[in-house]
Amino acid sequence: MKTIHAIRGKRVMTPEGVIAATVHMRNGIVTSITGYNEFPSARNIHDAGDSMVIPGLVDTHVHINEPGRADWEGFETATRAAAAGGVTTLIDMPLNCVPATTTAAALEKKRTAARNKCWVNVGFWGGVVPGNTSELRGLDRAGVFGFKCFLVPSGVLEFANVSEADLREALPVLAAMNSPLLVHAELPEPIEAAGRKVRKSDPTQYKTWLRSRPAAAETKAIEMLVRLTREFKSHVHFVHVSSKLSVPLILRAKKEGLPVTAETCPHYLFFAAGSIGDGRTQFKCAPPVRDAENNRKLWKALGNGAIDFVVSDHSPSPPSMKCLKAGDFFRAWGGISSLQLGLPAIWTRLSGTEYSLRHLVRWMCSGPAQLAGLDKHKGAIAPGYDADIVVWNPEMSFVVKSKTLQHRHKLTPYLGESLHGIVETTFLRGEMIYDRGRFLGTPRGALLRRGAR
Ligand SMILES: [Zn+2]
Repeated sequence: MKTIHAIRGKRVMTPEGVIAATVHMRNGIVTSITGYNEFPSARNIHDAGDSMVIPGLVDTHVHINEPGRADWEGFETATRAAAAGGVTTLIDMPLNCVPATTTAAALEKKRTAARNKCWVNVGFWGGVVPGNTSELRGLDRAGVFGFKCFLVPSGVLEFANVSEADLREALPVLAAMNSPLLVHAELPEPIEAAGRKVRKSDPTQYKTWLRSRPAAAETKAIEMLVRLTREFKSHVHFVHVSSKLSVPLILRAKKEGLPVTAETCPHYLFFAAGSIGDGRTQFKCAPPVRDAENNRKLWKALGNGAIDFVVSDHSPSPPSMKCLKAGDFFRAWGGISSLQLGLPAIWTRLSGTEYSLRHLVRWMCSGPAQLAGLDKHKGAIAPGYDADIVVWNPEMSFVVKSKTLQHRHKLTPYLGESLHGIVETTFLRGEMIYDRGRFLGTPRGALLRRGAR
């Protein structure tokens, strides 16, 4: 661990644009940004040279699974992957750990499990499940950033999906607490109907999996939630939007002034159904990766503001659960491992489009920070902001190999992909925690609470 007093670089991303500058820091906070040649003498200065200096990424969609399923992913490995991937703050999802984070007592178990293991800052979402309305205030008081719910089976029994009746109980409570509800927006009926149609189809073909999770499941769920938002005025956030058909619905709700936001994930922007080989269950996620034309529309939706930002939905499992040998998409665990790779995946696909690094910083730093209410001190390099800063080389590329991945399990659909943009150094509140493949010091990420700095 090394405390740095200033970072200077020829390309520093500030809210005003990319400039040659020196970023001055004290006690983990950016104090000022001055000219490139105005730096304090005889102090610890990190010279980023020609590399890019950007705010640390904020990833509000990460499944860490500890306690209870730490053999899937744990705090130590996930937050190492985050640091190596330029993510300095992540918010952990309330499911796949045991107990699920649906009570304040479960949140306390999470915090205990996370203590002294986190290389980056970690906050927590709570869960809305049938029957836990009376727990929501306690979770809010204990510092969760908001709540997540499923409308279809989540994949684990201890985190049941909610019905409209459950939401009608929970939404007034969330509205009163001004706490966002993150929704896995797929409704069961279209999926059940599609399931009957594909029953006799080959489960190892990707197109069978794709047909089993139709876009209508997502659009119908979004329609229902827009209706409920209109009624309850509660902030609803759609996680991992996958279908172009959802985009006009979200846009219309926003134009109406309803408090809705939406995210998508790198895999929906990077991959396309047509190039996913049969039996390649490392690509399985729900909702599924759709066709290239669909995914071009998701990029457009980021441009026109229908979709607000991009976060990983890092949701790994032991490789055995991906059933790679059988290649059966219906038996395999659904979830894509990608926490370390979001920045280069998006940057790779972004080049040659009308978008710039400014967009990337909005989609991966300030946008997600805003959902978590952290945007007053994270997601930008500016005076008063936390000195969570990443130095990376956008021009260099690398091939994704297992040995450089810090995730607990190395299986990911990105293996073998050539990606642009190498994270060189990561700073957490002004301290160098990661430098060119090495981790410095001990894990000192903060366990964050909503509303506290
Ligand atoms: Zn997820």
